[in-house]
Amino acid sequence: MRVAIIGAGVAGLSCARALSAGGATVTVFDKGRGPAGRISTRRAAVPFDHGAQYVTTRDEAFQAEVARLMLEDVVAEWSPRIVAIDRIGGAARPSSDLPRFVGVPGMNAIAQALAAPLDVQVDVTVTAVDRVADGWHLKAGGEDLPHRFDAVVLTAPPVQTATLLGAHPLAEKAAAARMAPCWAVMTSWADAVDVPYDAAFVNDGPLAWIARDGSKPGRPHPHTWVLHASPTWSTEHLEQTPDEVLRMLLDAFEALVRRPLPTLAFSTAHRWRYAYVTSGIEDPYLWDATDRIGAAGDWCRAPRVEGAWLSGRALAGAMLAS
Ligand SMILES: Cc1cc2nc3c(=O)[nH]c(=O)nc-3n(C[C@H](O)[C@H](O)[C@H](O)COP(=O)(O)OP(=O)(O)OC[C@H]3O[C@@H](n4cnc5c(N)ncnc54)[C@H](O)[C@@H]3O)c2cc1C
Repeated sequence: MRVAIIGAGVAGLSCARALSAGGATVTVFDKGRGPAGRISTRRAAVPFDHGAQYVTTRDEAFQAEVARLMLEDVVAEWSPRIVAIDRIGGAARPSSDLPRFVGVPGMNAIAQALAAPLDVQVDVTVTAVDRVADGWHLKAGGEDLPHRFDAVVLTAPPVQTATLLGAHPLAEKAAAARMAPCWAVMTSWADAVDVPYDAAFVNDGPLAWIARDGSKPGRPHPHTWVLHASPTWSTEHLEQTPDEVLRMLLDAFEALVRRPLPTLAFSTAHRWRYAYVTSGIEDPYLWDATDRIGAAGDWCRAPRVEGAWLSGRALAGAMLAS
């Protein structure tokens, strides 16, 4: 079975690995410069995890995968001093001490490790998925990609997956999922931001999460912070410029930490248009065994890295079984 997978995020990579292990010939296409999707690490003046911050594990199979990656030194446990701040100006209270794992030296190391044995073609934006008599052809930028594929897997966020599915009946199911955006700000400071915690869930104001990125294992720059705006704020400010967003979120950060900040060495903002699943679909994956087309992602299973991994793997299992 020759399979094309669109998207080299966690879902696409876990699907590809399980299919390869089952004997399929798999090619993964991604429009980005490397695999990772929303677990990317931004290579700015200094590197930042500007998407997913950490991985949590609930499922046994995913726990085993994370343990395997730990043995390869690709993943390490991150034990931040973590708090919740319910009101700007209010006290910080301790938050959950759930085990948290991160890629080393950046979150994208996880994707790179998953992608290593696979045929992953980056900088390829798939623009059409066409049914032909004996399988599927893909188009990128109006050009046919070489090869005919027996099966196709879509792992882009649901709106994009639905667009690629076009008139196929699975499109309607994918389109039912809902995503919210996130504005992310990456900052590097000349000195330590003097707060008695490394990360905070914030339940008031524009910000929802702040983290001392440099407190994660294997990060060379200690004075880096990543700030994530809340889904509501990000939706309200979706079309503002990165510079405007940067100014507003830096002000929000200063108000939150309630002390003068050191000199800012570097800052930039990034908009994740499709960041968080706010309403997923009921199925753990989508698969049409007759047409041999399917879809997977965090929007099918659970709104986090683990959910994406499980969804991709479960789809591969269904494909191999059929
Ligand atoms: C700001 C932020 C913070 C988060 N924090 C956490 C966290 O702390 N913990 C956690 O567990 N989860 C977190 N998440 C969620 C987590 O990142 C996702 O659940 C997970 O990475 C989704 O993986 P995926 O493979 O389903 O999708 P994606 O990672 O979105 O992968 C889809 C891929 O498809 C590619 N693609 C799309 N369209 C095309 C096309 N036409 N042609 C080719 N390629 C295409 C994209 O480039 C992308 O690489 C966070 C997400 C964001 C954005």
